[in-house]
Amino acid sequence: MKKSYKIGIIGYGGMGNWHHINTEKLDFVKTAAVYDIAEEARAKAAQRGLKAYGTLEEILADDDIDIIVIATPNEFHCPYAIKAFEAGKHVISEKPVAMNSEELQRMIDSANAHSRVFSVHQNRRWDNDYRIIKQIYDNNELGNVFSIQSRVMGSRGIPGDWRKEKKHGGGMILDWGVHLIDQALDMVKEKVTDVYVRMQHVHNTEVDDGFQLFLTFESGLVYLIEVSTSAYISLPRWHISGDSGTAIIEDWSCNGKIIKPICGNENVDANPIQAGAGLTKTMAPRGEESTIELDLPKIVTNVCKDYYENFVSAIEGRQELIVKHNEVMRVMKIMEAVFRSEIENSSIRVDIK
Ligand code: NAD
Repeated sequence: MKKSYKIGIIGYGGMGNWHHINTEKLDFVKTAAVYDIAEEARAKAAQRGLKAYGTLEEILADDDIDIIVIATPNEFHCPYAIKAFEAGKHVISEKPVAMNSEELQRMIDSANAHSRVFSVHQNRRWDNDYRIIKQIYDNNELGNVFSIQSRVMGSRGIPGDWRKEKKHGGGMILDWGVHLIDQALDMVKEKVTDVYVRMQHVHNTEVDDGFQLFLTFESGLVYLIEVSTSAYISLPRWHISGDSGTAIIEDWSCNGKIIKPICGNENVDANPIQAGAGLTKTMAPRGEESTIELDLPKIVTNVCKDYYENFVSAIEGRQELIVKHNEVMRVMKIMEAVFRSEIENSSIRVDIK
């Protein structure tokens, strides 16, 4: 790297702290300042030796700052990013990048107009569980994949902050949904042809507090994304099936396995088994005579280092951004189709690649 770049963080809450603490381990970036509307957040920043500003104008006027990281509630990402580009700063926005695709387009136009680097913190592309499934998919380990199920489930409802309110960009589609849609599009390099959602409002009528979203890809692959904040028992994080195997990841610790048929034995006829009040051959479990169990691949990632290294390399013109503008735009377009699907209570035909 040519120098150590100085970061100014706008919004020093959960994720603002994440960016500060995690970049402390890197020698090519250093957090120097914070702007937050909350006095408590500013006091915490000052205590840690950062400059703590109470207005946007002050942090943007600080010539020391090269990179602005925006980690506020969602409705401020667009206006703050545009002001930062105008002030000559490079910008990393937390996800969701914006409230809609029109806002994102204005952010991209402003970044281009001022020749600034602009990226979105789609950090869940570095999740170990996601990387394992992506490797299985990329290596064609399961043959032709026809079903992918990606779930995150909890029982604590939406946290009692801005995430509960529409005007701040609350709700689970804009929260976890955006991460999981981004993973789906990053993994399956096909056109999305159909979007269908069922949203949940278990404890919140204003925004969705969970959903089941079906994305259909051009090959017919159906990708289910399910988020719940009212599930006291969770379903597995991942379940993926192809015509020659299935893989499962149970949890964040990446416990799971791959089961594949033994070539030549896959069509061994089953004896009917007692199942509930009847018999079944179709659903009879398989044994060792016709399947093998494989361990999941082991993957170790370093999101903060990889992400910031790439961002700074893009500033220096040495690398393309990993998280590209057209990729975040696709996520916004899918998100908009999701809201249309909810309003129209039907599936939405799309042509998004
Ligand atoms: P948070 O509520 O913990 O923190 C937000 C901070 O922004 C608070 O300190 C608040 O005082 C400050 N703030 C509010 N309005 C402001 C304004 N107008 N100007 C300046 N500061 C303001 O929220 P969070 O969980 O840190 O989420 C922040 C952003 O990060 C959101 O966009 C969220 O979607 C995203 N996020 C991303 C991840 C991830 O893994 N990438 C995880 C959590 C949150």
